[in-house]
Amino acid sequence: MSDAREQLDHMVRTQMENRGIRDPRVLKVFRSVDRARFVPAGDQRSAYGDFPLAIGLGQTISQPYIVALMTQSLALEGPERVLEIGTGSGYQTAVLAELAAEVYTVEVRNSLQVKARGVLDALGYANIHYRAGDGRAGWPQQAPFDRVLCAAAAEQIPGAWTDQLADGGVIVTPVGGPGSQILVTITKRGKNLERCEFCPCRFVPLVGRNGEEDAGG
Ligand code: SAH
Repeated sequence: MSDAREQLDHMVRTQMENRGIRDPRVLKVFRSVDRARFVPAGDQRSAYGDFPLAIGLGQTISQPYIVALMTQSLALEGPERVLEIGTGSGYQTAVLAELAAEVYTVEVRNSLQVKARGVLDALGYANIHYRAGDGRAGWPQQAPFDRVLCAAAAEQIPGAWTDQLADGGVIVTPVGGPGSQILVTITKRGKNLERCEFCPCRFVPLVGRNGEEDAGG
């Protein structure tokens, strides 16, 4: 465990602080949530590496820096209700659960969510709510959300997410097709949606229930 603590500290210093992640609450959480718990058994030696790792079904646990960058962009203070699209390994879910009041996480590949939930339950998170299904529809019964975080790329941001966003709320998501994606924040101010593009990136595509890729509709 002390070995894990040292490796987490190294990961945070070299991959996050050195690249400009500054929010102290975010940095603290990345030192405490052990990424190794969310990485497949055969990849434990790479658990703190500066890259994504395969988690099955063609999906990945995101690169630690990207998880930190997206988390920081949400400027969480504690009382927020957060919608997460793409539970995946559950690593980002745990980070959000540490920084916000309630996390509502939607995953289209049920077996990934079952596995992630096993890890998150074992870690004792009681403020995470799970739903299997197409996250492009959001989670209308639980709206409004103060924040929305999506870890898969859409050609266009689904209208359900902006509809379900509270006034003053923020969405962070990759946008774009294969080969050209960018991380975007959308901030809702009354009827206005302020868009800010901040980092080129590469994510798996946002898909529908049958696995078809987002067509931009
Ligand atoms: N933050 C996760 C990222 C996983 S990759 C992690 O670091 O582990 C993106 C995830 O989005 C995959 O698990 C994929 O199955 C899921 N996904 C893709 N399209 C989706 C959709 N329409 N609704 C919900 N989840 C989706």
